[in-house]
Amino acid sequence: MVTTHAKKNLINSPDRRQTREVKVGSIGIGGDNPVRVQTMTNTPTEDIEATAQQVVLCYRAGAEMVRITTQSPKHAKMLTDIRRRVIQLCSHDVPLIADVHFIPAAAYEALKTADKVRINPGNFLDSKTFKKRSYTSAEYNSEIKRIEEKLAPFIAEAKKLKKPIRIGSNHGSLSDRVLNRHGDTPQGMVEAAMEYMRIFKNHDFENLVIAMKASNPKVMIAANRLLIQHMDDEGMDYPIHLGVTEAGNADEGRIKSALGIGTMLMEGVGDTIRVSLTEPPEAEIPIAYTILQSTGRRITKTEFISCPSCGRTLFDLEKTTNQIKEKLGHLKGVNIAIMGCIVNGLGEMADADFGYVGGGPGKINLYYRKDLVKRDVPQKNALNELVALIKAKGSWVEPKKVKK
Ligand code: SF4
Repeated sequence: MVTTHAKKNLINSPDRRQTREVKVGSIGIGGDNPVRVQTMTNTPTEDIEATAQQVVLCYRAGAEMVRITTQSPKHAKMLTDIRRRVIQLCSHDVPLIADVHFIPAAAYEALKTADKVRINPGNFLDSKTFKKRSYTSAEYNSEIKRIEEKLAPFIAEAKKLKKPIRIGSNHGSLSDRVLNRHGDTPQGMVEAAMEYMRIFKNHDFENLVIAMKASNPKVMIAANRLLIQHMDDEGMDYPIHLGVTEAGNADEGRIKSALGIGTMLMEGVGDTIRVSLTEPPEAEIPIAYTILQSTGRRITKTEFISCPSCGRTLFDLEKTTNQIKEKLGHLKGVNIAIMGCIVNGLGEMADADFGYVGGGPGKINLYYRKDLVKRDVPQKNALNELVALIKAKGSWVEPKKVKK
């Protein structure tokens, strides 16, 4: 028999995994900070004006930090001009993250200009030439020693400049050496990152954020679960960055992202997220916040319950729901139910703070928690009456003005 207490535990997702705090500019990731939302520009980095404009657009949409491709030291230097222009445009020093692949010199330069530097262990000091070659244990270990020797001065520089590093493994961009031993598998992704993490830790550097990304949510989830096991075994508490990379666009991209990111969040894992869509980056931000809201990890807006409508529905539910969401969508932490009729409506809105329920043709009943507060309100007045009820119960706040 499942007790009430056990039932409660079945629906409650686990507590968030404890991680250390890593500061990216003014923003903390991990620790007691909310799960952070980030995105990445898709403008050419050398187009400083376009990149700065896009950073500002993303910031105004709700991005708390923005990643920028830095292919070379020249591009890494440009982050200084981009930052200056961003501050001119929005009076805010939006934390900028340098995304580095292949060229370690770009990462060194980015340590001076970015708030965080992302490196990919698959291509930072390792190579992928698709050569099939067997590695003996001795050869494998000597490769890791070679990486450690090359990584040491970079770690020392990051430590000196107090800049955090993200070690991000991607399915599909593992080095020949890792592929040879583990294949293109979640195990390979995790091992690729763990090798780097151990080196950083050996050099007394733990200002790290870790990511496992794949375009297939199942691979992404498997890699993250395995990563957590390994980190727990080795006493590592670095914050985790979640994302389903190359998720696509439209519904497909959103659903894949929600599955991968949402599953891990429900398991208590994740300190910052990026939804990757083949769309303008600012379009990713509302999806990221909706995933956080739906998993209960970060509440930033009103929670709505609305029935799908059926033959019993007493008003235009779709139109009414949109009107209510537009007017009341900013009430963080408030739960509003919009139900077409009272047949199933009352039971199904049990968790709501306020209820807007069809009472008869053209008539709405308004509820506060489970109590009927106003009966048979003409529908044309019902939204205003609902606002008045929300105000009377002390749950109203004025909507924030949108920054232009
Ligand atoms: S709440 Fe009423 S109108 Fe809505 S789906 Fe259920 S029975 Fe139909």
